[in-house]
Amino acid sequence: MKSAAGALALALPFVAAKASYDGYKAFHIDSHHSYEALQEKLSALHVVDIGCGDDHDHLDIAVAPEDIAAFEALGLDASVVAQDVGVELAREGALKPYTATVKAAGEVPGLPEMSWFESYHEFEDHLQFLEDVHAAFPNNSETFVAGESLEGRPISGIHLWGRDGPNAHEAIVWHGTVHAREWIVAPTVEYLLYQLVDGYQKRTCTAVRAIDNYDFYIMPVVNPDGFVYTYTDDRLWRKNRQHREGATCVGTDINRNWPHHWDVPGGSSPNPCSGTYRGEAPGDTPEMAVLTNHTLEVGGRNGLKLFVDWHAYSQLIMLPYGYDCSKAAENNDYQMELAGGVAEAIRSVDGRVFVYGPTCPTIYQTSGVSMDWAYDIAGAELSWGYELRPANARDGGFVLPPEDILVSGQEQWAGIKHLLNNF
Ligand SMILES: [Zn+2]
Repeated sequence: MKSAAGALALALPFVAAKASYDGYKAFHIDSHHSYEALQEKLSALHVVDIGCGDDHDHLDIAVAPEDIAAFEALGLDASVVAQDVGVELAREGALKPYTATVKAAGEVPGLPEMSWFESYHEFEDHLQFLEDVHAAFPNNSETFVAGESLEGRPISGIHLWGRDGPNAHEAIVWHGTVHAREWIVAPTVEYLLYQLVDGYQKRTCTAVRAIDNYDFYIMPVVNPDGFVYTYTDDRLWRKNRQHREGATCVGTDINRNWPHHWDVPGGSSPNPCSGTYRGEAPGDTPEMAVLTNHTLEVGGRNGLKLFVDWHAYSQLIMLPYGYDCSKAAENNDYQMELAGGVAEAIRSVDGRVFVYGPTCPTIYQTSGVSMDWAYDIAGAELSWGYELRPANARDGGFVLPPEDILVSGQEQWAGIKHLLNNF
């Protein structure tokens, strides 16, 4: 007979420790146009990509403590952006528990406390936040589950409507946190939601006009598996959690998996170990089926006025197209004029400069991304991708202290107000 201890040891699965970035040093490296050669040089070292996107003129990486000397010996054109990534991560603070709104029988509660925006939160608390916004706005909203992630979590959102009831107007669709580690995104999108509902209840002009004239579908976390993984296992995780047959690495970049110009060379990676791995076929992630079906369904009713995919970081407003640098959207002049006004409004809040323009020529080439799909396939009149604050890895990259949440919300609310009042 086995001893109790032996049986216990067999029954316990191997539990990996949460990834630690203590002692990791972060660098910004100029590629001098030999991006591939640079990656090859780094391949023998333990480094983590902390860059945003695929801008091939530079690389932002964090180097493990044991490889810092070997990295420095390479003599690359590199500057330090963070002395210790572990210390930067600690500045984010603990995930604070959220106290749900208490609802007395027969009474409509107020909106959640603004303290929500003072710290980061776990996935379940984001779901509860949406429920509580709905509870405070019961006749003009519903929460919805568009479908499930690979691991069975809800891909949820809240639908807002105005005086004409639900489904009477063109749709506005916002997606957040498709890239799991972009933590500033969910609370920023939730701040916009909060301002819309609060403004409607206080009868402010922008919010009343917006909600009375559009059906909003706001989804702060569309990659729940990846998001949960960022606080249970690895804070810098980006993709979903899909295992592929024969691959040693996990995860597909959902925002390189949209079924439209999916495998343009240079726009994504065929390598499962890459952060921008596009999958084996267009749209072959469970999350993508949910997101495309939902967008087509709500956009199919009365049209799709605005689609926004919210990301961080880099301070950008990206317009179609990502997949072709010589191609601009048919209504590019209109989109550019609006984006210019939005950037100006954002800047008026805290001085942050947001660069805007068609993605490929202005920023970098991407393929299989939401913005191009929403414009070409779902027929969005305006289809944008945002990269929120900060501007670069030196200013924090994906890791911002919780004090930045509120001001990020405020500057984006200024931008969105401009948009809602001018389109
Ligand atoms: Zn992103």
